[in-house]
Amino acid sequence: MRNLRDMTYDELLEAVQAFGEKPYRAEQLFGWVYKKLAPDIDSMTDVSKAFRERLKGEFVVSGSKVLDIKRSPDGAQKFLSELEDGSRIESVIIPETGRLTLCVSTQAGCALGCRFCMTGKSGFTRNLTLSELVNQVVSANEILGKDARITNIVLMGMGEPLNNYDNVLKFTQVLTDGRGFGFSHNRVTLSTSGVVPGIKRLGAESNVSLAVSLNATTDEVRTKLMPINKKYPIADLLEALRAYPFKGKRHITIEYVLIKGLNDTLADSKRLAVLLRGIPCKINLIPFNPFPGSQFERPQNASVMAFGKVLRDAGYMVMIRMSKGAEIEAACGQLRARYDGA
Ligand code: SAH
Ligand code: SF4
Repeated sequence: MRNLRDMTYDELLEAVQAFGEKPYRAEQLFGWVYKKLAPDIDSMTDVSKAFRERLKGEFVVSGSKVLDIKRSPDGAQKFLSELEDGSRIESVIIPETGRLTLCVSTQAGCALGCRFCMTGKSGFTRNLTLSELVNQVVSANEILGKDARITNIVLMGMGEPLNNYDNVLKFTQVLTDGRGFGFSHNRVTLSTSGVVPGIKRLGAESNVSLAVSLNATTDEVRTKLMPINKKYPIADLLEALRAYPFKGKRHITIEYVLIKGLNDTLADSKRLAVLLRGIPCKINLIPFNPFPGSQFERPQNASVMAFGKVLRDAGYMVMIRMSKGAEIEAACGQLRARYDGA
């Protein structure tokens, strides 16, 4: 049995034609699966009973099990889903004025091992399938209830989205397809640690918004924090960003996690201003969010502000998110910090 939530439009079209049905049925099914979020095949009421029965011989609609929902005092809701193989992933719903953003995980764990990241420290299990990506949106809308719907998606949860390229690309396609979820491209943002070939492919194949976790201004420090920098050093990454096709007005978000004494000096902010010259970007400064066992410290607010001021004075758009700290449970705080301001 295949989950209909694993099917792209083209795959549905192929399946429909194999059943000897008219091509318009593909659009009808696609709408049921990704727009109306049908919980099962029987609720697809304008599909003939006979065709539904045949579909049920090969397909199901299957969701993920939500094990736990935690609400933080500022209204964010983190939920934990259990996948069929028992893997567990987290997603976070973040309410803001005028929008409801969902932070989606793209892998169970992450293989890239960034030193400041809780996911990176706990290792890699596997890539998420299209239906596991889709089900995070479906579960979020269920949690929100009838009167509210997710309006923005950020791929900034657990995992490196560009290391799960094929499923993530399909996900962005069903999200931005008007026949499916129907999110506009600028309401879907993918955050990468800097997988250069993936950035190039994404630029050619998708026009969702891009966020890049730079997190340091020298290769020495970046390699220490993010082992992927050995493979794709800062110069290569920035070259890929300079070559990125900016379809229309959009810019790249540069994420920079500030860690006390490591990458948060004024010399760093000045270097950053020089490095990013010529890249249409906004800079999102995220004070490091400590977690149990982490060996780094969050900088003082004053030094975060000073770091931001150098960049603003150099003409950059800068967002600074002061974490709410202890009142938010650590893991939720992690995901929130990743999302904030994107
Ligand atoms: N793998 C992707 C997306 C998930 S991580 C990436 O690295 O971009 C999303 C963001 O969370 C990244 O910008 C990362 O630098 C940030 N992040 C990870 N751990 C953090 C922590 N402990 N405190 C603050 N930000 C953190
Ligand atoms: Fe993976 Fe991103 Fe965490 Fe690095 S910061 S370990 S790339 S999830």
